[in-house]
Amino acid sequence: MPEIRSRAENDAAPEVSGRILTFRYVIALAILAMIAVASHVSFTRVLRENGGSTYLNVVSGQQQTLVQLAARYASQYADGDLSARDKLLRETNHLAAHHAELIAHMEAGKLPEAVIAALQSVYLGETHLKARIEGYIDAMRRVAAARPGSAEMRRELALVLADADGAVYEGLKQIVSIYNTYTIEQLRRLERMQNYMLTMVFLTLAMEAGIIFNPMVRRIVRYTTDLLKLASTDPLTGLLNRRSFLDSAFTEVRRARRNGATSCLMSIDADHFKRINDTQGHQAGDQVLKAMAATLTARIRATDVLARIGGEEFAILLPGMSLDHALQMAERLRGDIARLRTPTEAGFVSFTISIGVTQVRDDESELTPALNRADKALYAAKSAGRNQVAEFTGTDEPIPLADDPAGKD
Ligand code: GH3
Ligand code: MG
Ligand code: MG
Repeated sequence: MPEIRSRAENDAAPEVSGRILTFRYVIALAILAMIAVASHVSFTRVLRENGGSTYLNVVSGQQQTLVQLAARYASQYADGDLSARDKLLRETNHLAAHHAELIAHMEAGKLPEAVIAALQSVYLGETHLKARIEGYIDAMRRVAAARPGSAEMRRELALVLADADGAVYEGLKQIVSIYNTYTIEQLRRLERMQNYMLTMVFLTLAMEAGIIFNPMVRRIVRYTTDLLKLASTDPLTGLLNRRSFLDSAFTEVRRARRNGATSCLMSIDADHFKRINDTQGHQAGDQVLKAMAATLTARIRATDVLARIGGEEFAILLPGMSLDHALQMAERLRGDIARLRTPTEAGFVSFTISIGVTQVRDDESELTPALNRADKALYAAKSAGRNQVAEFTGTDEPIPLADDPAGKD
């Protein structure tokens, strides 16, 4: 189809090929897959870290409670409640185990630099929390080892309780706050990462819309338009073909009816066309058909519908035209064609046409009956000698309007 090819070539923006579209589609899918994998991996990592920091947060919070519990059992033991001794030892051991765990975490260096620095400043800096807690644990164990009521024990206890309420408690509060800040910061990181991933997904989708779906839809629209055109037009003359003429032209009849006007139909056939093919060649025949289509197109009104309904047969719907006018027009067309000298590769060719004319009846809702009548009139024109116009008279014997083909032009 040369017409279609030339349209594609003339497109202002060169069309993206199917292979490039597929390639882009694969790339876009790969990007989305990478985003999905990356977000899964990083979310899992952050969540795992977050689980760890939440645990540290809880443990450091428990230390505050354990320090106070141990102090309470130590007092009860000092007051002579021997059953408090086991509880004192149990909580002290608990405190010692947690302490060892928290210190090990800090020393393992798995936490961010800033967190380690903050922890070190509390554990090892001015507060000396590490030494204080270890001193506190030792003191508790000494209380548990001493006899209840002894002066030595009371002395130890006073010191221990003062520390528990003071520096140790405050130090532990700071540790809790450090882990707390760290946990919140990690949650914020997770949120930022989620926003970033979401933005990436939207950007990729927008890119897909722009470089894949938009050209794809344009291609589909173009193919559909071309296919529709191919299905409804005759490739040689560019006129409507029979089917689309019968399908669509009746709309014009309805429009004319709304204005109270009648419409007419012409059936046109080239006379002895076979002879042209036989004597001048098929190609010259084609050129004649094109010239015939061009002449008819130039003579009809903008609202008239011209179609090539067969090999060398054409039809014209004349919406809003009376039968008298249609007959006059047919006569003019016949004369125009008869005077035509068509240049072909085989030299100039002259030919004539016969035309059958009828009016579309008011009770008709499609063109086929009118086309049949016009064909009958055309047949009559042929029988009467060709190169003439006949009207369908409503009887089986249409009357040829002119019966002297030789003397017309
Ligand atoms: P009549 O006056 O009775 O119509 O005679 P005719 O020779 O025109 O009619 P006939 O039906 O015997 O022959 C029509 C010819 O039109 C036969 C066919 O080869 C030719 N034809 C149909 N379509 C084409 C076409 O697209 N190109 C060319 N070159 N010839 C065509
Ligand atoms: Mg013919
Ligand atoms: Mg024919």
